[in-house]
Amino acid sequence: MTKLIQWQQIEDSRVILRLDLNVPHKNNTIESDFRISKSLPVINELLKRNNKIIILSHLGRPSVEKKEPSLSLHVVCDHLSAMLGEPIKFINQITDKITFGEHRIVMFENTRFYKGEVDNDPELAKTISSHGDVFVFDAFGVSHRQESSTTGLMNFLDYAPGPLIQSEVNTAKSILEDPKKPLCTIISGAKISTKITLIETFSDKADHLILGGGLLNTYLQCKGFEVGDSLVERDLPQEVLSFFESESAKKIIMPTDLVCSADASLDYPQIKSISMVQSNDKVLDIGTKSIQRYAEIIKKSSTVFWNGPLGYVEKKPYDNGTESIINVLADSNCFSVIGGGDTVSVIENMGVQDQISYISTGGGALLKYIEGKDMYVIEKLGL
Ligand code: ADP
Ligand code: MG
Repeated sequence: MTKLIQWQQIEDSRVILRLDLNVPHKNNTIESDFRISKSLPVINELLKRNNKIIILSHLGRPSVEKKEPSLSLHVVCDHLSAMLGEPIKFINQITDKITFGEHRIVMFENTRFYKGEVDNDPELAKTISSHGDVFVFDAFGVSHRQESSTTGLMNFLDYAPGPLIQSEVNTAKSILEDPKKPLCTIISGAKISTKITLIETFSDKADHLILGGGLLNTYLQCKGFEVGDSLVERDLPQEVLSFFESESAKKIIMPTDLVCSADASLDYPQIKSISMVQSNDKVLDIGTKSIQRYAEIIKKSSTVFWNGPLGYVEKKPYDNGTESIINVLADSNCFSVIGGGDTVSVIENMGVQDQISYISTGGGALLKYIEGKDMYVIEKLGL
């Protein structure tokens, strides 16, 4: 039988360390090393205690047959090595015997290149476990997945949660269970059906609810406003329709103006009041008056939880609403928690990470945690 242990007490051991190094990358270049930087503390601490480290991570969604070269962890390995100032030996085959030699750290290839990983095959977990003495899990982003390199390994080695997953869970718990009021939640992004449970979870606790992006367009359309040819979700689940009619929906702060474009190129943006949107417009961002209105609410809030960009951030100037609200948060003293891959990218590009109280490394995992769904790894880790 394996047991739960404390990562700080591991010494002189071969530690298998599951990290989430699934970073955005293109043409062999890493576009954001946020997740890598968040993994440095656990590595440095383990090294201080004279441990050797075997790093595991996935990258993207490769097929076991193709092992797409663009999804190799090679680049990530080099990047991590440079950030640590420590050489890392890269190992391709999971069955290869590890010889550390001069190295204190080795890293295996993308866990999803190995047959059995996503099916949580115990044979694969057993093979991986043969390389180490204990298992430390610090990959919050996959804490909703039962795979060989997540829960699977815990059947073969004593296991411990790492410091990152502990702080992720503690932060999420604090805003869920005892948020300092007033609480403002901003839920935005592409599709409301994927975020409705999140909205409902916060709607009781929140004093103000701000919607944006496709979620706002969908809400406005349901309220009878023209939203033209915007990103909206049709065939809404009953859950969403019921929420729009509920008492909690009264906490939604209406925008006053929106940024639209009627041109297929999405050039020629126009700010329009919400009742002036035409059938050929696309709503792509919130307008300046809406930004001011939302900013006032945020400034009076003690806690802000935010997931999802407020507009079509991939194209200027439709990132203005999102960037303006990030600046408001960066300048405020409120406790701000932000999660979601696309939202976090904008913050990083602006370089204001340090002015936000907490930025989560878990995209989907954070949402699942808040929704109270499928957190197999977290349960097993007793967090
Ligand atoms: P996150 O990854 O932060 O959880 P989502 O994946 O839900 O966020 O949504 C982000 C996507 O939604 C971005 O690609 C963004 O361009 C898009 N989006 C937001 N608002 C709009 C809009 N008004 N029109 C078109 N796309 C939008
Ligand atoms: Mg996204």
